[in-house]
Amino acid sequence: MHVQNQPYFAEPLHVGRPNIGSPERFHALIDEVLHRRWLSNDGPMLKELEARVADWIGVKHVFAVSNGTVAMEIAIRALGLTGEVIVPSWTFVATVHALRWMGLTPVFADIDPETHNIDPRDVRRRITSRTSGILAVHLWGRAAPVDELSAISEEFGLPVLYDAAHSFGVSAGGRMVGNFGRAEVFSFHATKFFNTLEGGAIVTNDDDLAARIRLMRNFGFAGEDSVVSEGINGKMHEVSAAMGLVNFDHIDEIITRNKSNRDRYAAGVESLQGISLLPLAAGEKSNYQYVVLEVSESAPVSRDELLKALRDNNVLARRYFWPSVHRMEPYRTESPDAGRTLPNTEAVSERVVVLPTGTAVDAPEIDAIVEIMAQALSRA
Ligand SMILES: *Cc1c(COP(=O)(O)O)cnc(C)c1O
Repeated sequence: MHVQNQPYFAEPLHVGRPNIGSPERFHALIDEVLHRRWLSNDGPMLKELEARVADWIGVKHVFAVSNGTVAMEIAIRALGLTGEVIVPSWTFVATVHALRWMGLTPVFADIDPETHNIDPRDVRRRITSRTSGILAVHLWGRAAPVDELSAISEEFGLPVLYDAAHSFGVSAGGRMVGNFGRAEVFSFHATKFFNTLEGGAIVTNDDDLAARIRLMRNFGFAGEDSVVSEGINGKMHEVSAAMGLVNFDHIDEIITRNKSNRDRYAAGVESLQGISLLPLAAGEKSNYQYVVLEVSESAPVSRDELLKALRDNNVLARRYFWPSVHRMEPYRTESPDAGRTLPNTEAVSERVVVLPTGTAVDAPEIDAIVEIMAQALSRA
């Protein structure tokens, strides 16, 4: 079926290739922006995007911002977090870096290996007199244990902020992500299934918090000459907002495509020994944007051997999030023994491979990727 010693795919297939709803419509909206000469600062594209996000997830306040990391930093400051904040190590480094950048001390909690989300029992164990909050992640488009975290929040008086960078369009207990904790933060980075080139949003149902976030996003300006709080530049510009509007018009299509891609992978790997997809939450909405494969110890090849077979064929699958954050600097030097109390994080980070999906990947390509994996297993 393919020439030996040649990669199966002539062009590399990346994880996280951008979904672009309609280039033509995007060009038309950029023209509108340029003719209006309103490039940033609460422009009409931004207003429309915020209204559509609010409507889609049923949340009261939406602030579109320049990226998901700044979104987290503004939310952290607006919540007044200090001292220690409990956070998973099994996440993209930005979650933890955002805390650190704001002068806080991240305290790593372990995960549930079945869901890859933060383990509420371990969160409880990490609470000290210095803890000021919990930054949980809805990883891979699967909601964190929101009920248990909400119980901890009430019991200890600790605000929960959610990094929902993976979970735009996801539900938990039938309620849309964006409505949990004190605030939630999305990323609309180019590699996320819904993108605004770079971008993100802070969403909340809390009016007082929303008022602080509104000021902080724009240097603390309350009016033309009136600065009433500290602040930063977190504004999303009009071209990004235009991209968001274009992609919103196609969001259902993108999700449908992600789902059919995932279903095809699932059917394909079913017969492969020791390899399985991380399960989805039953009965919940998902955006299906990550195809997360786990290579167990019973597989005839190691995770890294499987990855090499894929990469040799130009399938640029990823070992997200490897190494996990506690093994990255500056955390590794500060807490060299952190891994000892994070056994599930350590184990999971050794068995995950994330496969390419999205509108740039089609069914025959998925069949070929599955075949490459099947051959790698049978050669072993
Ligand atoms: C992408 C991502 C971020 C950062 O978002 P940016 O928009 O790239 O700043 C934060 N957390 C997680 C889990 C992410 O995947």
